Amino acid sequence: TQPNHQHHLLAQWVSQYRAATKEGQCANYIPALAKKDPNQLAVAIVGTEGHEIKAGDTEELFTLQSVSKVITFILACMDRGLPYVLERVDVEPTGDTFNSIIRLESHQPGKPFNPMINAGAITVSSMLAGHSPQEKVTKILQFLEQIIGKQLSINEEVFQSEWQTANRNRALAYYLMDSGFLDCPVEAALEVYLKQCAIEVNVSDLAMIGLVIANDGYHPLLKKQLFPKQVAKLAKALMVTCGMYNASGKFAAFIGLPAKSGVSGAILAAVPGHAGLHSPFPTGCGIGIYGPAIDPIGNSVAGVQLLKQLATEWDMTIF
Ligand code: GLN
Repeated sequence: TQPNHQHHLLAQWVSQYRAATKEGQCANYIPALAKKDPNQLAVAIVGTEGHEIKAGDTEELFTLQSVSKVITFILACMDRGLPYVLERVDVEPTGDTFNSIIRLESHQPGKPFNPMINAGAITVSSMLAGHSPQEKVTKILQFLEQIIGKQLSINEEVFQSEWQTANRNRALAYYLMDSGFLDCPVEAALEVYLKQCAIEVNVSDLAMIGLVIANDGYHPLLKKQLFPKQVAKLAKALMVTCGMYNASGKFAAFIGLPAKSGVSGAILAAVPGHAGLHSPFPTGCGIGIYGPAIDPIGNSVAGVQLLKQLATEWDMTIF
């Protein structure tokens, strides 16, 4: 297929699946997210040579939310080494909602099940190198800025909005502290976690992050290994098993890509080379999607349908 044809197809799919935004709602437990335009839908795909196709509301900025959990997991592994990280957070899916508290007491007391749920992500954020929340956040920003190649910022309104309503995340963090799974004070861990969630990007930025993860940590445009292959493999396994919250099983079964969603309506997907073989991106690609109307589990309704369409049409499953 020719590039123009791909563009055209993508635009056609975006307009087709935009109707599905009606089946969801913007996250309403975070006041600043509740007022986003629920009809928006955007997608960007970037390949290993840097060519990009995109369609829909591609200029729209949105916050990373839970997509940031993949990034901080990678960073914590680089800062502390895998054994240290894995001693403090497991790699098992829960089947519970992302902010569930119920299993914290059922596993080896207090050890969070995986880094893709809030409990695990707060633990991971507390482990990042840096003496203050600001230092840790700066490191996250610098890491992402290197991947994306532009300056990023934190949406202060979204951060404040969450900071002031973070009762459940505070409860999780206090529990983690009590059982010895926090490496820094509760408020500091929460500040890092909620700031990483409020980092603002567009779909092209998400696609670039997905591309580097797809390529096992190698940035094909910078021609540089940004994080170890082993860490990238682990991140992808976590994305497949836990990335779409308690819909990860269905997502793996019917779409078959390592992906991570956020309650902002963001989805990041990584298509390794072998999975892209029969697609317009035969050496792999990264996909960024934004559709703020989410389902009760927390995944973009139209985003998941759009991703399913293109992954099916282009036979992108990793299986
Ligand atoms: N900041 C959000 C929270 O902690 C992120 C959750 C998400 O995207 N699932 O609740």
